Amino acid sequence: MTRRFAVVGNPVGHSLSPRIHRMFGLQTGRDLQYEALLAPLDGFVRTLHSFFAAGGGGVNVTLPFKEAAFDWVTSCDEYAGSAGAVNTIVASGGEYRGYNTDGIGLVRDLTTNLGCDLKGKRVLILGAGGAVRGIIGPLLGASPNCVIVANRTSAKAQLLVDRFEDPRLSTANPDSLDHAFDIVINGTSAGLVGSLPKVAARAIETALVYDMVYGENAVPFCAWAREHGAAQAVDGLGMLVEQAAEAFALFHGVRPDSGAILNELRNS
Ligand code: NDP
Repeated sequence: MTRRFAVVGNPVGHSLSPRIHRMFGLQTGRDLQYEALLAPLDGFVRTLHSFFAAGGGGVNVTLPFKEAAFDWVTSCDEYAGSAGAVNTIVASGGEYRGYNTDGIGLVRDLTTNLGCDLKGKRVLILGAGGAVRGIIGPLLGASPNCVIVANRTSAKAQLLVDRFEDPRLSTANPDSLDHAFDIVINGTSAGLVGSLPKVAARAIETALVYDMVYGENAVPFCAWAREHGAAQAVDGLGMLVEQAAEAFALFHGVRPDSGAILNELRNS
């Protein structure tokens, strides 16, 4: 029997998730339907109820509903718990378990696809929104030397850091960073509106720069980073594919060959 899955968001029409999950399905021989479900801003829970009442097997959740999904699920994994945000819900026997696969996806892209060992590295994260909350737990799990969160609104960075209570985690002002990092992650949404987050150029000299935004929206920040000496600057398409692969494994019990799908998407 064909199992039904969906990504729920608002807006959601731009989402690559249906395409990626269908590619995984073809690759692994799983019979599935995967659609993009636009939920009204005041109707996320209603949308979930009708999807699951009709036999839906699971959903991915995107902006702006990840926190609402966390409030709705009946249980959740460690990373969703520490982030207070859920991006994957699996239905099973009347229970709805929430997961957050964003950070696992980022770490897997950095380590497996880009060959970067995070152990002992100095990591700078720009931004302190929902997506950054989701990546902190898995990043700390990869044993970096330190993770510095630098956000335009410093109070928000401080709140985030306080939430994790880890001595390797602290905040800084993005304008006044005076030393270089090994890895710089742009977790702001600045690229979505064509602007660049402010950060001292010194911080990115020789760094691997990772923009969580992907495609055209990542071009300006990656170009700026290369101009200022970054060793490498990449967009977040790999993170998107890897978080989807993790969700696919939760839905179907089989891990797709995400590297092959990432190559296919990059070449298309
Ligand atoms: P939020 O709206 O929760 O947070 C946005 C963050 O960006 C805030 O910290 C905000 O700062 C900062 N920001 C926005 N504009 C600027 C600017 N012009 N200069 C400096 N900082 C700015 O968004 P999310 O955290 O949910 O998402 C962040 C990005 O991550 C999005 O672009 C999203 O597409 C991407 N993402 C990618 C994924 C992937 O798989 N590749 C997965 C999830 C997200 P302030 O607090 O001061 O307002």
